[in-house]
Amino acid sequence: ATPTALMVGTGRAAKLGILIKNAEVLEAAHSVKTVVFDKTGTITVGKPQVTDIIGADKTRVLTIAAGLESSSEHPLATAILKKAEEEKIIPAKIEQFSAISGKGVKAVIDDKTAFVGNDKLIESYSPDNLLLKQMKALQSEAKTVVIVGIENQIIGLIAIQDAPKESSRTAIAALKKEGLKTVMLTGDNPLVAQAIGNQVGIDEVIADVLPNDKADHIKALQQTAPVAFVGDGINDAPALTTADVGIAMGSGTDIAIESGGIVLVKNDLQDVVTALELSKKTFNRIR
Ligand code: ADP
Ligand code: MG
Repeated sequence: ATPTALMVGTGRAAKLGILIKNAEVLEAAHSVKTVVFDKTGTITVGKPQVTDIIGADKTRVLTIAAGLESSSEHPLATAILKKAEEEKIIPAKIEQFSAISGKGVKAVIDDKTAFVGNDKLIESYSPDNLLLKQMKALQSEAKTVVIVGIENQIIGLIAIQDAPKESSRTAIAALKKEGLKTVMLTGDNPLVAQAIGNQVGIDEVIADVLPNDKADHIKALQQTAPVAFVGDGINDAPALTTADVGIAMGSGTDIAIESGGIVLVKNDLQDVVTALELSKKTFNRIR
C-alpha cells in the first residue's frame, strides 16, 4: 500500500474510535486467520455482580471476603465490595495481604489465615460433595464461583455473574462468517468459560489458563496462522505483544493499552471486525 493509502486507512479508523499505532499493525491485520479473546472485560462487560452467597453464616462469609478483597484491584473484588456495601457489612480488618496470580487472594484475620479464590487455591483441602455440587451448578449458569475460607476451613461460596457485552455475539458471528477462527482464552473455570462461550457462539474455549501462560497459547496458535489477540487486563499484556496483532480495549489497564498495536476506544467488539476489514481494504486495493 502507498503511504497515502495507509494514512487514509488509519485516518478512517481513528474517526471510528479505532486507534492503529503504526503501518506494520495495519498490514499484519489483513492476514489474520484466528482471533483470540480474553473473557473478563473483553467478551464480558467486566462489571461482575454478586448473585449468590452460600454458607451457614452468610454475613461472616461476606465480612471475611470483603476484608480480603479490599486490597485487590480485580473485577471480582469490586463486585464483592459492592455487595458488602449494599448489605451494610463492614469488611474484616486484614494483615499481610497477598495476591496469588490466577488463583485468588489471602491475608491474616484475627491471627488466622483466610482466603478467597478458586479451587486451585484449595488443592490441599477436600471440600465436601454437596459444596462441589453447588459450585458446579452455579458455574454451569455462567457464574464464577469463589471459595471463602479461614483456618483450613471452607465457610462459604460467593457466585458472581458478568454478562457478555451486547456486541460480543454479533461480532463473533461476523468474524466466523469471514472464515476466521474464534477462540476464548481465560483464567476462569472451564464450566463458566464454556457457558459464556456458548452464549456468544465462540468456536473454541481454552480455560484455566494462568496469567503467565496466555502468551504461550498464542504462540501455539500462531503455528497454524497469524493471530490477533483482544484483551484488557494486566495479565493480557504478554499475549498482546506476542500476537501478530494485539488489540486492547480502551477501558483496559494502561499496560494493556501500551502493549496493543490497536486500541478500541469504544470497547466494542464490532470494532475488531471493522479494523480487520479496513486492513483488508487498504492492502488489497493497491499492490
Ligand atoms: P481472566 O482471564 O478471566 O481475566 P484472571 O487470570 O484475572 O482471569 O483470574 C482467574 C481466576 O483467578 C478468577 O476467575 C478467580 O477464580 C481467581 N481470582 C483472581 N483474582 C481473584 C480475587 N481478587 N478474588 C477472588 N478470586 C480471584
Ligand atoms: Mg480481562
